[in-house]
Amino acid sequence: MKVVVDQDKCVGSGQCVLTADDIFDQSDEDGTVVLLDATPPAERLADVRQAVVMCPAMAITVEE
Ligand code: SF4
Repeated sequence: MKVVVDQDKCVGSGQCVLTADDIFDQSDEDGTVVLLDATPPAERLADVRQAVVMCPAMAITVEE
């Protein structure tokens, strides 16, 4: 799987971090998303999908 985040869309809500804090973090400066792992293992797919759904800015996409 490949995860992509769009910094320009991100509004810093932090839902992705609450869903998968091993894959997403937030910038200390402005709270926007920091992608920790762009190619997580397949067993993390459910949580990544959840982050995609939870993100209010639709800033996360995943290619399976
Ligand atoms: S859930 Fe979306 S808007 Fe919120 S920090 Fe993560 S990528 Fe940004």
